[in-house]
Amino acid sequence: MSISLDDYQSHDQQIWDEELQDFVPDRVFDAHIHLFHHAHLAVSSDSHAWSDADLSTLQQWAHRLYPGRETHFLVLGTPTIGLDVTAHNRWCLEKVRQDPQSRMNRLVTPQCQLADIERDIREQGFIGLKPYRIYSVTGDIAQCRIHDFLPHTQLELANQLGLWVTMHLSRFHGCADEFNLNDLEEFTQRRYPNIKWILAHCARSFTYWPIRHAIDRLRDMPNIWYDVSAVTDVRPMITLFSGENPQRILYGSDGVDATYFHGQYAAMGRAWQYVDIDRFNLKFPHCDGRPILAVYEQLLSMKHAAEIAEWSKDNIQDLFWRNAAREFNITFGQG
Ligand SMILES: [Zn+2]
Repeated sequence: MSISLDDYQSHDQQIWDEELQDFVPDRVFDAHIHLFHHAHLAVSSDSHAWSDADLSTLQQWAHRLYPGRETHFLVLGTPTIGLDVTAHNRWCLEKVRQDPQSRMNRLVTPQCQLADIERDIREQGFIGLKPYRIYSVTGDIAQCRIHDFLPHTQLELANQLGLWVTMHLSRFHGCADEFNLNDLEEFTQRRYPNIKWILAHCARSFTYWPIRHAIDRLRDMPNIWYDVSAVTDVRPMITLFSGENPQRILYGSDGVDATYFHGQYAAMGRAWQYVDIDRFNLKFPHCDGRPILAVYEQLLSMKHAAEIAEWSKDNIQDLFWRNAAREFNITFGQG
């Protein structure tokens, strides 16, 4: 089902007005968001999977979600099977260039040629890489290791060029997985010290468990950042905000399709599931309120976690835009 700005409801507005507008600063850098156009998909592929979104779609959404805020983006392409990666990267970058204060990571698959990646970085202005587990050479998207979808040759190039890598960790336990933790220690401390990692989704911790298990080791690794995109459970956020350096945490929304729906990523024990209320016949007989956008659930969790971790106003500014401005060389306030 395609997501539209018209889906924004009065109960979303109420949460913004009463809970979020005092929390979200005047400046927002969304370090995890996707562009998509179906023209880059092979006809045979699952082409209804994602909604089309260009930069103006993202800007319109930002205007609706955080009205009056100056917003820029670190854009990721949309990893999909059957995607023409070259055409998709080219189109996305063309859109991202419409805003000089937005940045983009190049979508990479193990099949991408090193020379093409290097040329794109040096000449086109991509600042990093976006690998994804669905391209794993093992064919197992759930249990693959980092090098299965981001081969060592590409890691070497990223190290040489000092690139960012937005990493959605695979394996059942995400950041708590021993292979992942050992790989990250090996890569950050020894083998690829110049790569700057953004561990997406609170280091892929949608429940309390992985980040609670991993935080003490992750905190000791250099060149690790996090984005908080799509995590709607407050517990992993509390662990991250209390246990990590606030200067290493970035805001991200994972819009459009992954979080601008009504529902959340519900944690149930150590399992979690995407719950889009439009897919269920839920009644809510005991309440007046109605489910809100998942991205607002995420912002509410961020707010509560910041309170519990006793973050200062400065920490919150850092989270929403200052860390990104420093790391990606973004100038806000240009008009
Ligand atoms: Zn994403």
